[in-house]
Amino acid sequence: MNINNIRNQFPILDTEVHGHRLVYLDNAATTQKPLAVIEALSDYYSHLNANIHRGAHHLAAEATGRYEEVRRQVQQFIGARHHHEVVFTRGTTESINLVASSFAKRYFTGDDEVIVSGMEHHSNIVPWQLAGAVLRPILFSDEGVLDMDAYERLFSDRTRIVAVNHVSNTLGTVNPVERIVEIAHAHGVPVLVDGAQAVSHMMVDVQAMGCDFYCFSGHKMYAPMGVGVMYGREEMLSELPPYQGGGEMISEVTFERTTYNELPFKFEAGTPSVGDVIGLGRAIAFMQEVGVDVIAAHEADLLTYATERLSTLPGLRIYGTAPMKTSVLSFLIGQAHPYDVGTLLDQLGVAVRTGHHCTQPVMDRYGIPGTVRASFAVYNNREEVDALVAAMERIMPMLQ
Ligand code: PMP
Repeated sequence: MNINNIRNQFPILDTEVHGHRLVYLDNAATTQKPLAVIEALSDYYSHLNANIHRGAHHLAAEATGRYEEVRRQVQQFIGARHHHEVVFTRGTTESINLVASSFAKRYFTGDDEVIVSGMEHHSNIVPWQLAGAVLRPILFSDEGVLDMDAYERLFSDRTRIVAVNHVSNTLGTVNPVERIVEIAHAHGVPVLVDGAQAVSHMMVDVQAMGCDFYCFSGHKMYAPMGVGVMYGREEMLSELPPYQGGGEMISEVTFERTTYNELPFKFEAGTPSVGDVIGLGRAIAFMQEVGVDVIAAHEADLLTYATERLSTLPGLRIYGTAPMKTSVLSFLIGQAHPYDVGTLLDQLGVAVRTGHHCTQPVMDRYGIPGTVRASFAVYNNREEVDALVAAMERIMPMLQ
């Protein structure tokens, strides 16, 4: 992998921040976009823009074709059996809300439990609470590893679904989702996997994993904001009622009664973000051109290097030291508040995220207000890790 060639494809990396060249280490929040994706958006709005599926004219047919091509691209990218198992949404949050809402309508009986991990993003907690479930969290060790024995003990006749993240956005832990699915299915319980932090870092194969639902966001994998995916196994999706009503999701409408469209359109009410879907297709092509395995290896090297280098700083504590980790490094230093660290790093051009990262239960678990989080993408390099460490060394005297 030629890192300079990759960096050159990301115009934003030339930005100056407070007189310093930007060092962007907030990739778990959102990744930057390569020129190919930016140009795909511009190209769409310059030459292709039309509403899809219904139009009789040339542009509508072209836009529809491209939109549906991306559905097949996603199917292949995540190893789904059918293209109609891929539903386009606004992002992970909408995907999980869709499943929680429809699944609850279909299967909840008023006495319902959902097993989640203790390290879920709020978007895989709150939708289940809104749906009326009692949450049963899987505890995890100080290192950030799920207690699989405790997990098995959480099942009861009230367990309706297991909802876990593939990768923790705060601790970086790669959770054993195959094993989690195997155990849940042995209890006759389906599994939703939140893949928001996984798809840009590793090969995902939903059939090999065996999960029933897999949700992710385009903007965390080099694609535009405003588009995401809800994958669901055909057998599951055909059983679930629609999430939103409106155009496109219907078959026939009368004032007395409405019948619904086939999969996946039943779950895609209204005008989708067509240009962003096409951008997602270009982002997937970008990842495949570089090679998902190559990206994974590069990021693993950066994570190891950053962990080693940061660990040399006196008083630095890393949160999340699981043996299986990817691309996320959460830490605190001395008694400093994470927000102060983040603000001072920003003055030196280093962009990190601070706070609870939408995982307040993780912060409660450790009894801390938040962390500083550096997270890596394909375009980061060792010099940027050095810049982070040098910036930490510079600000440390100010933090006492
Ligand atoms: N789950 C995880 C693990 C995440 O990291 C995030 C984003 N921080 C989300 C869900 C929500 O994603 P989005 O805001 O793109 O819907």
